[in-house]
Amino acid sequence: MTASPGAPAEHRPSADEGAPAGSFGSLLRRARPYWRALALSLVLSLLASVSGLVQPKFAQEILDRLATGESVARPIGALAVLLVGGALLTGANAWLQQRTSERVVRQVRRDLVGRLIRLRVPELDRRPPGDLIARVTADSTLLKSAATEGLIMSVNGALTFVGTLVMMATLHAGLLLATLLVLALVGLVMTVVLPRIRRAVAREQSAVGAVGSLLDRTLGATRTVKANGAEGRETRAARDAVEDSYRAGLVGARYSAVVTMLGGASIQTAFLVVLGLGGMLVANGDMDASALIAFLLYVFFLSSPVASLVGGAGMLQQGLGAVGRIDEVEEMAVEDDIDPAPAALSAPGPGPVPGPGPVPGPGSGPGPGSGPPPAVEAAGVEFAYPGRSPVLRGVSFTVPGGTQTALVGLSGAGKTTLFSLLQRFYEPTAGSLRIGGQDIASLPRAEVRRRIAYVEQDAPALAGTLRDNLLYAAPDAGEEEIAEALRATRLDALLARLDRGLDTPVGARGVALSGGERQRLAIARALLRRPQVLLLDEATAQLDARNEQALGELVAGLSRRCTVLLIAHRLSTVVEADQIVVLEHGRVRAVGTHGSLMDDDGLYREFAASQLLSAEQGAGPR
Ligand code: ADP
Ligand code: MG
Repeated sequence: MTASPGAPAEHRPSADEGAPAGSFGSLLRRARPYWRALALSLVLSLLASVSGLVQPKFAQEILDRLATGESVARPIGALAVLLVGGALLTGANAWLQQRTSERVVRQVRRDLVGRLIRLRVPELDRRPPGDLIARVTADSTLLKSAATEGLIMSVNGALTFVGTLVMMATLHAGLLLATLLVLALVGLVMTVVLPRIRRAVAREQSAVGAVGSLLDRTLGATRTVKANGAEGRETRAARDAVEDSYRAGLVGARYSAVVTMLGGASIQTAFLVVLGLGGMLVANGDMDASALIAFLLYVFFLSSPVASLVGGAGMLQQGLGAVGRIDEVEEMAVEDDIDPAPAALSAPGPGPVPGPGPVPGPGSGPGPGSGPPPAVEAAGVEFAYPGRSPVLRGVSFTVPGGTQTALVGLSGAGKTTLFSLLQRFYEPTAGSLRIGGQDIASLPRAEVRRRIAYVEQDAPALAGTLRDNLLYAAPDAGEEEIAEALRATRLDALLARLDRGLDTPVGARGVALSGGERQRLAIARALLRRPQVLLLDEATAQLDARNEQALGELVAGLSRRCTVLLIAHRLSTVVEADQIVVLEHGRVRAVGTHGSLMDDDGLYREFAASQLLSAEQGAGPR
C-alpha cells in the first residue's frame, strides 16, 4: 500500500507482479482480423473530429462577415450540415466500434473455452479453476475495449491533437507555442500520475480476484465451514480482501481526481494565457479579433483529443495486463489428439433420445467394443508428478484380456495414479502401458479413452438430470440400454421413488444423491460405454453390503466381455478377482490370487486380517 496511512502491509502479491504484461503486438494480433472495421471506424472518428475542428473556422467567417455586413447564410448552413453530419458519423462509429469489440471478445472467449476444456491434466493441477475462469470472463472484457476502443481512441486522439495544433498554427504560431508550454507542464505531471493509476487498478483487480478465490473455497465446502463454525473467520478473510480492493480503489480514485483536475485546469490556464497574450496582440493590431476567438475555441477543442489520449492509453494499459493472462492460456499445453467434434465437448442436452438401441440380452451389461477384450500390461512404469518425488517405480504386471485384476495397497501407494496413466491424463516418465498389445503412448488420447470406462474415486454427479448423467457416457444409448444399466446397478429402485424419473435433476455436486447412489450412477454410466477395459477406483467404498455384493456379481459377469481393473479396500471385492496386485510405495510388492497371497505375502495377510476384523465388527461373525 503506497498512500493509505495505517494500511496493513501488503501481504498479497500485487497483480502487476503476478500477471505477465502482454505485448502490444499480441494485442494488435487480436484486433487484426477486424482491421477493416477498425480502419473504417478510425476514418469515421477522424471525420467526426474534423467536422468539429473546422467549426471554429466557420465561426471566424461568420464573425468576419457580420463585421463587413456580408450574408452569413452560407457559413451558417455549412455549420448546420457539419453538426448533423458529425452527429450521424459519431453514432455510426459508436455502433461499429461496439460491434467490433463484441466480435473481438467473442473470438477470444471461443478460443479460450476451446483451450481450457482441452488443457492437459498437469496444467489443470497447477492452477485454481477460478483463476482460469477469470481469464474467460474478466480479462477478455478488459481486452475487449482495449483492442478496439482503446486503439481507436489513442490513434484518433493523437491525430486530432496534431490536427488541432496544425489549425492553431495557421492562426498564430506564437500563441501555439504558449499553449504547448502550458500543456507540456501538465503532461510532465501526468507521466508520474498515470503509472500510479495503472498500479492501483491492477492491485484492485488482484484484491477482487482474492475475494473470488476465498468465496470459491468457502462456498465449495459449505458443510465443512458450518460444521467447524468457521463462518466468522471466512467472512473476516473475505472482508479483508474487500477492504484491500477498497483501499486500492481509493488510491486510484485519488490519482484519477488529480488527472481530472489537471485536465480541466490546464485547458483553462492555456485559455487564460492565450486570452492575455492574444488580447495584447489584438490591441496592438497584430491579430484579428476573429482569429483570436477561433484560436481560443481550438484551445477548448484540445481537451477532447487529450481526453481521448488519456482514456485510450488507460484502456491499452489494462488491455495489456489482460492480454498477458490470455496469452498464458495459449501457452498452456492442451490435448490435441482428442475428438475434435465440438458436440463431443458439450454435455448432451435433454434432447430427443434416439430410438431403441441394440437390445441387450438378459443379464448382459456392456458388450465388447469389438473383438475379444484386450490384455492390459504395465511394463517398468515409472512416474512422478511434476516437482514431486517418484510415485510409481518400475511397475510391471499383465492383466489377461477378459479377466479381473484387483489392485490393493495402502492409501498413497499409487493406485489411482496408475489409472490416470492408463488414460493418458499423465505420461509415464519411463516404461510403457499397453492395451491389446499397443503402447497407449502411440495412440491418440481419444482412442485410448474410447476403449476405457472409468469410475473415478469419489465420482461426481454432473449438474443436470439423471438421464443427462447417463447419456454423458453414451449419447446414443437407447431407453432399453439405460434401463438395463439402472437394473444392473440397482438404481431402478431409486428411480421408482422419483416422480420425474430419469428427468429428475441432480445437483451440481450430487447433493440430491447419497454417496452410494452417486457411485452406482457412475458405474451405470461406465456400463453404458460398453468398454473394452473397465477401471473401477474404490467404486464400492460407499456401497452397503448388499449393493456391494450385487456389484461384485455384476463385475464377475462382465469379465468375459471386458477386462476389469479394480481398486478396492474391501476384501470381499478382492477375493473373487482372478489376480491381485499388491502395491507398496509405488512398487509391485506381490502378485497372486487371494489364496496364494494369504500364504506368501505378509502385507496382504495384514490387509486381509484387518478387513475380516472390520467385517466381523460390522456385519457380525461370518
Ligand atoms: P492411492 O490411490 O494409492 O491412494 P494416489 O495414486 O492417489 O494413491 O497417490 C499417490 C501419491 O501421489 C500420493 O502421495 C499423492 O499425494 C500423490 N498425488 C496424487 N495425485 C497428485 C497430483 N495430482 N499431484 C501431485 N501429487 C499427487
Ligand atoms: Mg486412490
